[in-house]
Amino acid sequence: MRCVRLACVLAIVFCFFATSTAAVSVHPVYEPIHRIDTPKKVVALTFDDGPDAVYTPQILEVLHNNHVPATFFVLGSQVDKYPKVMQWIAKAGHEIGNHGYRHHDLHKLTEQEVYDDIKQGERSILRTTGILAQYYRPPGGVMTHDVMNAVQASGYDVIHWSIDPRDWSLARTASVIAKSVKRDVSPGDIILFHDGGLNQRQTVAALQELITYLRQQGYRFVTVSQLLEASN
Ligand SMILES: [Zn+2]
Repeated sequence: MRCVRLACVLAIVFCFFATSTAAVSVHPVYEPIHRIDTPKKVVALTFDDGPDAVYTPQILEVLHNNHVPATFFVLGSQVDKYPKVMQWIAKAGHEIGNHGYRHHDLHKLTEQEVYDDIKQGERSILRTTGILAQYYRPPGGVMTHDVMNAVQASGYDVIHWSIDPRDWSLARTASVIAKSVKRDVSPGDIILFHDGGLNQRQTVAALQELITYLRQQGYRFVTVSQLLEASN
């Protein structure tokens, strides 16, 4: 009787360890990066939905005049439309991220379709600049199970953002955009802007004010890669 009881206890213990070991060996849950924790006063400016023939050059000029590096999450369809502007971004030394080929609503795509869109975007960037992007930002920040699987299969790290001044909204003036960043910013943030999409005049206008302000506050501007290195 005692032996039976001991056997039962051993079986339970074995099952417990077997389950824990299995749980450990399962792939970790894929987490997008929103920001990093750091005491260093660094922020990453990111621009989505370009390249755009009108607003990307204006943004590049502001960044150049202020010696600020940034990260551009470009759409492959826009890269094919404006290859010269894409090459200008790359030559200026900014980091290039993949935002997919088209700005799809990812909720409506299958895992395979998301994967194909990511790879098509990747090919456009590679063909035009020779750069193989390392980071992917899903349109709208959508992260369904299918998107996560597609991203893992494609080998990208997913970068979201921690500050969104909603600069795509035509109702937001430059001063509203600047004010919302100034209010919320803290070390390690990833700030979301758009160089493509609708009318990004308000983004261009807010940018100079924000760069000046953040520098006065002691912030340094880095690319997404440099930001991730700062977390080590
Ligand atoms: Zn977008």
